Amino acid sequence: MRWEIQIDTTERLQAIDITDRVNELLKGARSGAALISVKHTTCGIIVNEAEEGLMEDYVKWLSNLFPINGKYRHNQIDNNGHAHLSSAVVGNSRLIPISEGKLDLGTWQRVILLEFDGPRRRTVGVTLMQ
Ligand code: ZN
Repeated sequence: MRWEIQIDTTERLQAIDITDRVNELLKGARSGAALISVKHTTCGIIVNEAEEGLMEDYVKWLSNLFPINGKYRHNQIDNNGHAHLSSAVVGNSRLIPISEGKLDLGTWQRVILLEFDGPRRRTVGVTLMQ
């Protein structure tokens, strides 16, 4: 079974906690795993803490690594080389176990969408694997 969640990002660089949206889909699911993935090349998915300061740190530190105004060959055709490189490093998916109808995460773990080239409408796929 596979579902899709639409997320409208509002900033160029942004971290969005999508854990509750994913868990809503998994109510009643038996144990197994959920693959959380995006078919985009300028955003990413991580599992980590959604503390307010960290939510800014994730995208700020990636933009220090890959500055928005850096020199990228890709910017000759599309002005978002930083976003592709950030996405390539972070990855486009995470596989997470399911227990009792929800993601089996640690106390502080959340599923977070990282936007590197917003604002855009993002589609997050949730594939149930049982
Ligand atoms: Zn591009």
